[in-house]
Amino acid sequence: MNNRPEKTNASSSIEALSFDNTAIAFAAKDQKALKLTHRIYQMMNYPWLVGMGTKMIGKTLHWGRIKNTVKNTLYRHFCGGETLSECAHFVDQLWQSKVYALLGYSVEGKATDAEYDKATEEMLRYIRFASQREAVPFAAFKLTGIASFALLEKIQNQQPLNEAEELAWEKAKDRVDAICAAGYEHNVKILIDAEETWIQDPIDAVADAMMDQYNREQIIVYNTYQMYLKRGLTFLQQSLEKAKSGGYRLGAKVVRGAYVEKERNRANANGYEDPLNSDKNATDDMYNKAVDFCLQNLEHLALFAGTHNEQSCYHIAQLTQKLGIAAGDSRVFFGQLYGMSDNITFNLAKAGFNVLKYVPYGTVQDVMPYLFRRAQENTAIAGQSNREYELVKKELKRRKAKTA
Ligand SMILES: Cc1cc2nc3c(=O)[nH]c(=O)nc-3n(C[C@H](O)[C@H](O)[C@H](O)COP(=O)(O)OP(=O)(O)OC[C@H]3O[C@@H](n4cnc5c(N)ncnc54)[C@H](O)[C@@H]3O)c2cc1C
Repeated sequence: MNNRPEKTNASSSIEALSFDNTAIAFAAKDQKALKLTHRIYQMMNYPWLVGMGTKMIGKTLHWGRIKNTVKNTLYRHFCGGETLSECAHFVDQLWQSKVYALLGYSVEGKATDAEYDKATEEMLRYIRFASQREAVPFAAFKLTGIASFALLEKIQNQQPLNEAEELAWEKAKDRVDAICAAGYEHNVKILIDAEETWIQDPIDAVADAMMDQYNREQIIVYNTYQMYLKRGLTFLQQSLEKAKSGGYRLGAKVVRGAYVEKERNRANANGYEDPLNSDKNATDDMYNKAVDFCLQNLEHLALFAGTHNEQSCYHIAQLTQKLGIAAGDSRVFFGQLYGMSDNITFNLAKAGFNVLKYVPYGTVQDVMPYLFRRAQENTAIAGQSNREYELVKKELKRRKAKTA
């Protein structure tokens, strides 16, 4: 196993950390890129436009002009490129600001063995790519990218599997093992995404088995813990107890959770108790308790905080300082999606924290579901775009004043 060097930027100054500093946030964007960002957020301030646009694009993407428009706007803003090699320059670009990169092959809704094998091959290729770059310490995957959703649901419901399904499940576990073994061999950390609660039990079981196998000398595999779930914090704590008694260390990617509407709708439709916290405040509170718990147990675990929430990021930064944890400690990582929250990412990096951008790649067609989710999540209604829009405007104004 090769030894990846720890980030050496020790010029941490939490006192100076401000997510309002747009000069740092957008330093990597030239004027053209900043103006595109401005246009994108301007558009997202009109939720009806995003709603109508995403419906129309879905139906007309096969038209060359529509595809080009999407490629030059939303796609360029949120994605790295069509292939791994097309994205390689992003790694260097981000690393100039000491921001790490996590490139993700973004294909969803594929459902054949051949497609699952192809996705696994792509992951293995990516892990080799990452192993040669200090700036790419992580890989990430969704179990539903390499195994059937229906099969996972059946396993969760403890329904008996037929012979073909047994075989499919064995193959899926072999794919997961191949990815985690490659991560172990090349010292690339592996994040396993969390998904819908009605398929999450087998995902957790597989993730625990992988952590048990590969997290003994160092932490390679991370499971994801969703704090919008009522059970979120308790489950994280139980997972640590299980790791301790099993003699391995826990990799904890802590997120709020991405499937609010789907979870609530399904619980309502099927008449079972809503698994989610009653409101956003309860989720925020649980999120901060979960990261506190992680930071206080770094002897046994590593934290990856996947969040765009400024308050939570400040909270983590402040607590690390209070607990005497160095900003560049390799057990603490932050992550934001490419095209979102540059003010958090680049200011954290400047203050010496480990922070990465998740940069998805794939063909325009393949990344459409991902793009639609990002567009909707960033509308004025969801609350993200206004803040980002104001920051971009502020930076454009600042640059104009500087050159005047
Ligand atoms: C690098 C990275 C990796 C991620 N990986 C995953 C993953 O594997 N699985 C996954 O599910 N998500 C994942 N996410 C998405 C994440 O769960 C959130 O949906 C997203 O980041 C928005 O939450 P936030 O922490 O950024 O902050 P905010 O924007 O402050 O919070 C929004 C979140 O709060 C919660 N929330 C909103 N309203 C309510 C309500 N009424 N009641 C209860 N809770 C509410 C929801 O979780 C919502 O997404 C990832 C995000 C990042 C940045």
